[in-house]
Amino acid sequence: MIGQNFSSLTWDQATLPIQLGGFGIGKVNLIATAAFTANVFETKEAVLQTIVSARHYFPYLIDPPSEPDPIDELSPNQVSEFISPFQSSFSTLSSAADSKQINILDIVHSTLLSDSAKSSHRLQKLFTNLLQEKQGQDVLKKFHNTRPPPDTARLRSCCGPHSGAWLHCVPKDAHSMMDNESFRFACNFRLGLPLHNSSSYCSLCKKHVDNVGIHTFSCPKQRSRLLDKHDSFCRELKLLAQLASVKAKDHHLTLFTPLDPKNKLRPDLFLPSMGKQGRGLAIDVTIGDSRNDSNAAASALETGALRNKKERAKEQKYEEPCHTMGYSFLAASLEIFGSMTNKLDTLISRLVQMAADRSQIPFSTLLPYWRKRFSMNIQQGNARSWMDATVRMSGVDSLQDSSLNLATHHIRSVAL
Ligand SMILES: [Zn+2]
Repeated sequence: MIGQNFSSLTWDQATLPIQLGGFGIGKVNLIATAAFTANVFETKEAVLQTIVSARHYFPYLIDPPSEPDPIDELSPNQVSEFISPFQSSFSTLSSAADSKQINILDIVHSTLLSDSAKSSHRLQKLFTNLLQEKQGQDVLKKFHNTRPPPDTARLRSCCGPHSGAWLHCVPKDAHSMMDNESFRFACNFRLGLPLHNSSSYCSLCKKHVDNVGIHTFSCPKQRSRLLDKHDSFCRELKLLAQLASVKAKDHHLTLFTPLDPKNKLRPDLFLPSMGKQGRGLAIDVTIGDSRNDSNAAASALETGALRNKKERAKEQKYEEPCHTMGYSFLAASLEIFGSMTNKLDTLISRLVQMAADRSQIPFSTLLPYWRKRFSMNIQQGNARSWMDATVRMSGVDSLQDSSLNLATHHIRSVAL
């Protein structure tokens, strides 16, 4: 899938759950720890009733008395096959729970007492979640300690709400799939690996550049080219609004010229009656890269620092004219890996609810669909921008180089 070697820390990221910035590959030892420990608690009563010898060691599992040493009273088999593995698993779980100031036994009691029919799966799931959260914290700490800020900013951005939703897409149409090259790009991009066909030199800026796409998405000579990705996201948002029966406008939005004919603010979308108290809602979409020089330091320390900063900046810009004209405003602020602000997420949920009411498709089905679709839209846009930009950055001359003469998407797009 990736087509290249990578470090153990990259693998650590890949094994994280998707919502924690990984690919959801998982770690067998975490699953085994959660399953084994949950199983011991769930079957404890049944085992004590049927296996008499278990009464000797069960009380020692959680709270072994210090005197006399209980291990001395047990057979070596009981220790090696049952007690040691359990105590090791329980200790791993306890330290994960400690970091959240949770007591494992509290979870066990409340879960097993609450609903006996479904408790078995729930306990294992709760344990797995605890271990995975700890795993996420450990990987983030390793990034902080060993990687430069752009890498940590990337991992944090990949953890943002729904940013990895594209990885949950079932590939069935243009909104849920990518061509092979784009998919490989998106995977390498998420993992911060050198990007296929990357150019080490930007002929537009005449300087050497990184190979993970940081310069590519912030190249001052190509800002206008990123509009395609931005516009594509706006079109998706407009379509969702239309499905929700909101007559969205996205053309000639000179909303503020009545205030001042020279006012140059042009929001991307206008949704009638979707603002506060039924006012019109002006929306301006912005998609930024948290890894570049201006943003990496803050984004490495705080998840969503860039998207929140851009949201505030847009709100300040639009606050006064919108207030005067009686409109509400929403900064649809996203990061390049797909993380979005809470306000944008809330708007999407509201529109999906309205679309669900109209179409009679359950909200619980439609909301994940649209989250995945928006997330995929951003990654498709990144891949398109990347392929176009690398060709421009490499310059016309280097396209004659036979080493670049591959049957790749971006070379084909140049030939057309
Ligand atoms: Zn450049």
